[in-house]
Amino acid sequence: MPLYEFECRDCGHQFEVFASFSQKEKGLKPSCPKCESQNASQVFSSVGFFAKSGRVPFNSGGSGCCSVGQ
Ligand SMILES: [Zn+2]
Repeated sequence: MPLYEFECRDCGHQFEVFASFSQKEKGLKPSCPKCESQNASQVFSSVGFFAKSGRVPFNSGGSGCCSVGQ
């Protein structure tokens, strides 16, 4: 069963959800385990995803909202 990574838009907590493709097709609405909000969006964190699409300014420095540490 594939694993999907979600980020809560309310508290920023990232969590993983196991769901079948049919569940995904129906529209997956996982709730945040931390604040129980359903306002979560899927995160595409696969390295291969970025490598295929060329240069993505993902780790471009401190200007993004998601940069943590160095
Ligand atoms: Zn949350």
